[in-house]
This record gives sequence, C-alpha cells and structure tokens, in this order.
Amino acid sequence: MIRASNIHRDRNCSGAAAACEGVPEPVAQVWTGEGTIVHDLLKHPEKASEAEDHLVEIADQMQGCADWIVDKIFPEQEGYERLELIRDREEPFFVEYEGRKIISGHPDFIQIGVILGKRVALILDFKSGYLEVPAPEMNDQLRAYAVMVWQDESLAVEEVYVSIVPRFGKSPVPVHYTADELPLALLDLADVDAASRDKKAVRTPSVGACRYCRARATSKCPETLNIDPRLITMNSLIDLSPEKKGELLDLAEIATGNIKKLKERLKEEIASDPNAVEGWHMVPGDVRGSIPNVDACYQIVSDFMTMEEWQSCLKIAQKPLKDAIKDFLGATENIKGKAAAQRIKEILAPVTVLKQGEDRLEKKS
Ligand code: SF4
Repeated sequence: MIRASNIHRDRNCSGAAAACEGVPEPVAQVWTGEGTIVHDLLKHPEKASEAEDHLVEIADQMQGCADWIVDKIFPEQEGYERLELIRDREEPFFVEYEGRKIISGHPDFIQIGVILGKRVALILDFKSGYLEVPAPEMNDQLRAYAVMVWQDESLAVEEVYVSIVPRFGKSPVPVHYTADELPLALLDLADVDAASRDKKAVRTPSVGACRYCRARATSKCPETLNIDPRLITMNSLIDLSPEKKGELLDLAEIATGNIKKLKERLKEEIASDPNAVEGWHMVPGDVRGSIPNVDACYQIVSDFMTMEEWQSCLKIAQKPLKDAIKDFLGATENIKGKAAAQRIKEILAPVTVLKQGEDRLEKKS
C-alpha cells in the first residue's frame, strides 16, 4: 500500500513502488532525527526542557503558525465552531477505492469544526525540514490526507481544508477541497496507485522523485547506480541551449544525490563491519569546545582584558532572550503566537543585524 508521504514519488516514477520492495528503511539521518524531535515537541510541549533550544524555538514558531491557521479557518465568531482536535490517533487513516485500501497516512493535526452549518476538517502537515515543499494545491500528501479524512465515516466531514505548516515564518495559504472536488481527488490518487501497481512500470529518475526513495543507489534501481547516458552524449557546455543547460543541471542534481546516497550506504556498511570497504575506515569526529557559563568564564579572564573587550566576545542567545520577552508580553498584554513574534521582532529590530546569505541555485517550480 502506498504511504501518503510517498505519493509524490510514485506519481513521478511509477516503477518506484516495485523497486522499493524488500529494501530496508535507511538509518535516520541527523535532519530526520531533528524533525522527529520537533514533531514530538509539537505534540508534547512539556518535553521542551529535554530538547535543544533551537528545536524548541522551531516547534514554538510552528505551533504559532498552526494557531494562526486555525484562527483563520475557524474564527471566534458566530457560525464557526471548533470541535475535536485529533493529534495522537494511533491507527492510520486510509484512502479507499473500489473497496480496497490504497493509501495510508497519519496526518499530524486534524481540527474538526463547523463552518456555517457544515462539518469540516482542517488538516495541518508540519514540515520541519529545510527543503521547499510543493504548494498545498499541488501537494500529493495533503491531497491524500484530505481524501482519507473525508472518507473516514467516524468524522463525517463534508469538506476539508489542508495546509502545510512550514519551518520558516511564512504565512501559508490553506487549500479548500469542496464536496465536489474530493471525489475527483480520489480518482486522481487511484490513478497513481494503478500506475504504481504495474509490474512493468518504468523507473524515471528525477530530483523530486528520487530524493527519499529507498531504492536509490541500490541494485533495485540501476538507473541511479549508473551515469545517465545523456550526461555522456550531450554537447559540450558551450554549445548547449538554455533549455539543454537546464536539463544538464537537473541531471547533475540527480547524479549528486545518487553519489551522496551511495556514500551514505557505504558509510553504514563500514560502521557495522570495519572490513566491509577496503581502503576506508571510520575515524572519530572533531571535538569542539563551548563555554556555556558566562559568569565563571569572566571570573577567570577579567584580569586579562577590559570590560569592553570582554563584551565584544559575547553573543546574545536569542532563544532565552525572546522567550523572556514573550512571557512578559503574554503576562502583561496577553499577546501570544504570531502577534508576539511580530512584536518581539519590532522590539529587537534596532539591535538586530541582518545578514543575507549567499545567493543559491534553486529549481523553478
Ligand atoms: S530511485 Fe528514483 S528512479 Fe529509482 S525507483 Fe526510486 S524514484 Fe524511481
């Protein structure tokens, strides 16, 4: 059965489902570990004291954004009502087609409510990673969530709103699936499922489809173990049209991802068997020091420097600073969520130095 989070892959590479059969899940990477912690903090804010500050800050920001979306869809006014909130349901939801479960999924957050007499669901998907995700109207995972929640008889909703909650402070625009659109969305998902069941379906590498595919850089997907022939047969760079240069950059991106995945797999092999790869071995990571206790440090170094020099060494830890201001604003002016974040931004603006990162390449969507 397809997982909702894999539909984008299966839509773009119908051969992926067959290729992934029998390939074990990869060992979690650092970023997936962080994503798991942020998701856990969103469900259990009481665990904040156990997590690293920057992850707590991300979870706080995302929760503020989620509150803002809920306020937009279910404003506190006549005709709108918030009912149950589903965040911890153990059993998955399913998209069913012609009596068969074809897609499973676990939406992060489902707010049931009433809008002008209609029972509706708002589904939020927390995206704590750095990568851009497809806009909600083109997002297959959200579409599957919309259909599976709509099909769940116990919820009995007529319409669904879906939205991403991004890691960064953007204001997302929820997508509305009406009662007419949900059956069409179901047919669209059933098409993806049917194509992926075709045992002769071809594998078609692309930047988006291959990104999280388990078959990548394994014998189940030879296309990602070999150099794409187009990279060898293409004209030299100087003779390429802008269109061909775009194709070249796509191919380079896929090849880069394939090599990265290959190196990860071999590193995993060496980690479990030091003799698995001849000529390579694991060495300990670099050791870096930090000085968390500012007072104790000053006691030691004050004989060596002026106060001005000492102060020039210090850097403000933004998380506790912002938390203290946020607590103050909440207690004195009842300002919370996004409004508090905006106010803190204004308060700190005179002393905040903005630094633009280097321009980076990004594929146009
Ligand atoms: S790695 Fe890419 S091309 Fe290969 S099966 Fe997966 S999605 Fe398809």
